[in-house]
Amino acid sequence: MLLENPSLSNKMSISVDHEKLDNYSQNHVRFYFKYSSFVFKALKTPKFQRFLHWMLKKERIEEHSVRAVHVKVLPFRRENGKGIAGNCDTTRGRIRIYPKTMTFCRIFKQKFGRSSLLVYAGNRARAALIHELLHLKYAADEKTVRKRAENYFCIFTRKQFAQGAHAFWVYAMIFNEKISGKKALGLSCGTNSSTKPNETCLRASGAFK
Ligand SMILES: [Zn+2]
Repeated sequence: MLLENPSLSNKMSISVDHEKLDNYSQNHVRFYFKYSSFVFKALKTPKFQRFLHWMLKKERIEEHSVRAVHVKVLPFRRENGKGIAGNCDTTRGRIRIYPKTMTFCRIFKQKFGRSSLLVYAGNRARAALIHELLHLKYAADEKTVRKRAENYFCIFTRKQFAQGAHAFWVYAMIFNEKISGKKALGLSCGTNSSTKPNETCLRASGAFK
Protein backbone atom coordinates (compact mmCIF):
# COMPACT_ATOMS: atom_id res chain seq x y z
CA MET A 1 0.00 0.00 0.00
CA LEU A 2 1.29 3.42 -0.87
CA LEU A 3 1.20 5.88 1.96
CA GLU A 4 0.34 9.44 1.12
CA ASN A 5 3.28 11.68 1.78
CA PRO A 6 2.19 14.14 4.45
CA SER A 7 3.23 17.47 2.99
CA LEU A 8 3.00 19.38 6.26
CA SER A 9 6.31 17.86 7.27
CA ASN A 10 8.08 19.68 4.42
CA LYS A 11 6.85 23.06 5.62
CA MET A 12 8.41 22.73 9.03
CA SER A 13 11.63 24.40 10.00
CA ILE A 14 13.61 25.48 13.03
CA SER A 15 13.74 29.23 13.26
CA VAL A 16 15.88 31.50 15.40
CA ASP A 17 15.87 35.26 15.84
CA HIS A 18 19.62 35.82 15.64
CA GLU A 19 19.42 39.31 17.04
CA LYS A 20 17.93 37.91 20.25
CA LEU A 21 20.65 35.32 20.80
CA ASP A 22 22.92 37.94 22.39
CA ASN A 23 20.49 38.22 25.30
CA TYR A 24 21.23 34.64 26.29
CA SER A 25 24.26 32.92 27.79
CA GLN A 26 26.07 30.24 25.80
CA ASN A 27 24.57 27.68 28.10
CA HIS A 28 21.05 28.87 27.37
CA VAL A 29 21.68 29.03 23.64
CA ARG A 30 22.99 25.47 23.63
CA PHE A 31 19.98 24.34 25.64
CA TYR A 32 17.42 26.04 23.39
CA PHE A 33 18.99 24.69 20.20
CA LYS A 34 18.89 21.20 21.66
CA TYR A 35 15.29 21.70 22.76
CA SER A 36 14.18 22.94 19.36
CA SER A 37 15.83 20.12 17.46
CA PHE A 38 14.18 17.63 19.82
CA VAL A 39 10.77 19.24 19.31
CA PHE A 40 11.31 19.45 15.57
CA LYS A 41 11.94 15.70 15.45
CA ALA A 42 8.97 15.00 17.70
CA LEU A 43 6.66 16.96 15.40
CA LYS A 44 8.05 15.31 12.29
CA THR A 45 7.66 11.69 13.33
CA PRO A 46 5.69 9.85 10.63
CA LYS A 47 3.15 8.70 13.22
CA PHE A 48 2.29 12.24 14.26
CA GLN A 49 2.40 13.55 10.69
CA ARG A 50 -0.02 10.86 9.60
CA PHE A 51 -2.26 11.82 12.51
CA LEU A 52 -2.20 15.51 11.50
CA HIS A 53 -2.92 14.57 7.90
CA TRP A 54 -5.95 12.60 9.08
CA MET A 55 -7.07 15.44 11.38
CA LEU A 56 -6.81 18.09 8.65
CA LYS A 57 -8.78 15.89 6.29
CA LYS A 58 -11.45 15.26 8.92
CA GLU A 59 -11.69 19.00 9.65
CA ARG A 60 -11.60 19.82 5.93
CA ILE A 61 -8.66 22.10 6.44
CA GLU A 62 -6.65 22.23 3.20
CA GLU A 63 -3.02 21.33 3.76
CA HIS A 64 -1.98 24.15 1.46
CA SER A 65 -3.57 26.68 3.83
CA VAL A 66 -0.62 25.92 6.10
CA ARG A 67 2.27 27.85 4.61
CA ALA A 68 4.89 27.33 7.31
CA VAL A 69 5.40 25.87 10.75
CA HIS A 70 8.30 27.48 12.59
CA VAL A 71 9.75 25.71 15.59
CA LYS A 72 11.18 28.71 17.39
CA VAL A 73 14.44 28.24 19.22
CA LEU A 74 13.88 30.94 21.84
CA PRO A 75 10.91 31.23 24.19
CA PHE A 76 8.45 34.04 23.83
CA ARG A 77 6.91 36.06 26.61
CA ARG A 78 4.08 38.51 26.36
CA GLU A 79 4.22 41.81 28.24
CA ASN A 80 2.39 40.25 31.17
CA GLY A 81 5.33 37.85 31.55
CA LYS A 82 3.39 34.76 30.52
CA GLY A 83 5.00 32.44 28.04
CA ILE A 84 3.07 31.05 25.10
CA ALA A 85 3.32 27.64 23.44
CA GLY A 86 2.35 28.76 19.99
CA ASN A 87 0.54 31.17 17.77
CA CYS A 88 -1.09 31.19 14.39
CA ASP A 89 -1.18 33.91 11.79
CA THR A 90 -4.34 32.76 10.05
CA THR A 91 -3.98 35.22 7.17
CA ARG A 92 -0.51 34.04 6.28
CA GLY A 93 -1.03 30.45 7.35
CA ARG A 94 2.05 30.68 9.52
CA ILE A 95 2.33 28.80 12.80
CA ARG A 96 4.97 29.25 15.45
CA ILE A 97 5.75 26.80 18.24
CA TYR A 98 7.71 28.08 21.26
CA PRO A 99 9.73 26.22 23.92
CA LYS A 100 9.40 26.26 27.68
CA THR A 101 12.14 28.14 29.45
CA MET A 102 15.36 26.52 30.60
CA THR A 103 14.49 27.26 34.22
CA PHE A 104 11.16 25.49 33.86
CA CYS A 105 12.84 22.46 32.31
CA ARG A 106 15.50 22.29 35.01
CA ILE A 107 12.89 22.22 37.77
CA PHE A 108 10.76 19.75 35.85
CA LYS A 109 13.75 17.45 35.39
CA GLN A 110 14.62 17.58 39.08
CA LYS A 111 11.05 16.73 40.00
CA PHE A 112 10.06 14.15 37.42
CA GLY A 113 13.26 13.03 35.70
CA ARG A 114 14.72 13.46 32.26
CA SER A 115 12.55 11.00 30.36
CA SER A 116 9.37 12.62 31.68
CA LEU A 117 10.68 15.99 30.58
CA LEU A 118 11.20 14.66 27.07
CA VAL A 119 7.71 13.17 26.98
CA TYR A 120 6.34 16.45 28.26
CA ALA A 121 8.24 18.69 25.84
CA GLY A 122 7.35 16.59 22.80
CA ASN A 123 3.69 16.38 23.69
CA ARG A 124 3.41 20.01 24.64
CA ALA A 125 4.63 20.91 21.16
CA ARG A 126 2.27 18.39 19.56
CA ALA A 127 -0.68 19.78 21.52
CA ALA A 128 0.31 23.31 20.49
CA LEU A 129 0.56 22.39 16.81
CA ILE A 130 -2.83 20.63 16.86
CA HIS A 131 -4.30 23.71 18.54
CA GLU A 132 -2.79 26.19 16.10
CA LEU A 133 -3.78 24.16 13.03
CA LEU A 134 -7.39 24.23 14.22
CA HIS A 135 -7.22 28.02 14.36
CA LEU A 136 -6.92 27.97 10.56
CA LYS A 137 -10.51 26.79 10.46
CA TYR A 138 -12.07 28.22 13.61
CA ALA A 139 -10.13 31.50 13.55
CA ALA A 140 -10.76 33.41 16.78
CA ASP A 141 -13.26 30.91 18.18
CA GLU A 142 -10.93 29.92 21.01
CA LYS A 143 -13.53 27.87 22.82
CA THR A 144 -14.10 25.53 19.89
CA VAL A 145 -10.38 25.31 19.15
CA ARG A 146 -9.62 24.34 22.73
CA LYS A 147 -12.34 21.74 22.91
CA ARG A 148 -11.37 20.14 19.63
CA ALA A 149 -7.66 20.33 20.30
CA GLU A 150 -8.07 18.49 23.59
CA ASN A 151 -10.15 15.88 21.89
CA TYR A 152 -7.67 15.34 19.06
CA PHE A 153 -4.71 15.29 21.40
CA CYS A 154 -6.48 12.67 23.45
CA ILE A 155 -7.05 10.53 20.35
CA PHE A 156 -3.38 10.80 19.44
CA THR A 157 -2.02 9.99 22.90
CA ARG A 158 -4.38 7.07 23.25
CA LYS A 159 -2.94 5.66 20.06
CA GLN A 160 0.57 6.50 21.14
CA PHE A 161 0.48 4.87 24.54
CA ALA A 162 -1.27 1.58 24.90
CA GLN A 163 -1.33 1.87 28.71
CA GLY A 164 -4.17 4.10 29.81
CA ALA A 165 -2.39 5.44 32.87
CA HIS A 166 0.47 6.93 30.92
CA ALA A 167 -1.88 8.44 28.35
CA PHE A 168 -3.92 10.00 31.12
CA TRP A 169 -0.86 11.41 32.81
CA VAL A 170 0.31 13.06 29.59
CA TYR A 171 -3.16 14.38 28.90
CA ALA A 172 -3.57 15.73 32.41
CA MET A 173 -0.18 17.36 32.34
CA ILE A 174 -0.91 19.19 29.14
CA PHE A 175 -4.47 20.23 29.82
CA ASN A 176 -4.33 21.06 33.48
CA GLU A 177 -6.64 18.37 34.71
CA LYS A 178 -6.63 17.45 38.34
CA ILE A 179 -4.93 14.33 39.56
CA SER A 180 -5.99 13.07 42.99
CA GLY A 181 -7.28 16.43 44.01
CA LYS A 182 -4.01 18.17 43.29
CA LYS A 183 -3.40 20.25 40.26
CA ALA A 184 -1.13 18.47 37.83
CA LEU A 185 1.64 20.27 36.13
CA GLY A 186 -0.56 21.99 33.71
CA LEU A 187 -0.69 23.39 30.31
CA SER A 188 -3.81 25.18 29.44
CA CYS A 189 -4.51 26.26 25.95
CA GLY A 190 -6.40 29.27 25.40
CA THR A 191 -8.30 32.27 26.29
CA ASN A 192 -8.12 33.31 29.79
CA SER A 193 -9.10 36.92 29.74
CA SER A 194 -5.65 38.18 28.85
CA THR A 195 -4.88 35.75 26.04
CA LYS A 196 -5.17 37.15 22.58
CA PRO A 197 -7.05 35.01 20.09
CA ASN A 198 -4.96 32.62 18.02
CA GLU A 199 -2.35 32.29 20.67
CA THR A 200 -1.84 29.19 22.73
CA CYS A 201 -1.03 29.95 26.26
CA LEU A 202 0.26 26.65 27.55
CA ARG A 203 1.54 27.38 30.97
CA ALA A 204 2.82 25.63 34.00
CA SER A 205 0.95 25.72 37.21
CA GLY A 206 0.67 23.84 40.44
CA ALA A 207 3.82 21.78 40.47
CA PHE A 208 6.12 24.74 40.69
CA LYS A 209 4.60 26.57 43.58
ZN1 LIG B 1 -5.80 29.35 20.67
